Amino acid sequence: MSTNIVVAIDGYSSCGKSTLAKALAKKLHFIYVDSGAMYRAVTLYLLRNNIDITDEKAVEAVLPDIHLNFHSRDYQTHILLNDEEVSDEIRLMPVSNNVSPVSAIKAVRTEMVKQQQRMGKSKNIVMDGRDIGTAVFPNAPLKLFMTADPKVRAERRFKELQPTNPDITLEEVFENIAHRDYSDTTRKESPLVRAEDAIILDNTNLTPEEQLQFALDRVEPLLKAKRQ
Ligand code: C5P
Repeated sequence: MSTNIVVAIDGYSSCGKSTLAKALAKKLHFIYVDSGAMYRAVTLYLLRNNIDITDEKAVEAVLPDIHLNFHSRDYQTHILLNDEEVSDEIRLMPVSNNVSPVSAIKAVRTEMVKQQQRMGKSKNIVMDGRDIGTAVFPNAPLKLFMTADPKVRAERRFKELQPTNPDITLEEVFENIAHRDYSDTTRKESPLVRAEDAIILDNTNLTPEEQLQFALDRVEPLLKAKRQ
């Protein structure tokens, strides 16, 4: 039986999953894996290579050409797509606007889940995404399901994106979040749902520190049990 601890954090778009996951991993010296970055990097590859993202067979055919790697520095996600650092480019709107249909393709999910499961096989990790507690690590000892008011989520993401995207509007960000929520929860393959045993964390009115404490209070008993 494996003795490593996996913390699975799922939830809606832009509700602070990665902020909490990074802070938690840093505090506990766990490895942080941003599973959304993997779907984003695949999307970037498809866009750059003019692959029709509605053509599942064409997407499946190029999957073996896509090699993803993470390297972590200061708990920031640095993702490499075929050895090129693409961490900033995957956050831009062309990728955000196309990632949901790409992540709904079965072959893409099968490949990403396989890679994610490999990462959590023997190490303590915090992984955030949409299906971590349901499909990737259904036996994770701690699952959090994050949610927040959609308007608050859009405002937070807008503030984050504005410095590097001065032309972006709050409406555009709100639309993108609403659209991704809709397609992530209604897709056929591993839709975003709360795992039955996931603890809900609504952070509309919580500071990042309060969210971290909420999570730490739930990880500590697991660490204690492991030490015994
Ligand atoms: O987490 P982030 O917003 O960067 O994820 C981008 C997109 O990737 C999501 O909107 C969703 O379509 C997809 N995704 C997924 N499963 C995951 C993580 C992300 O389908 N585990």
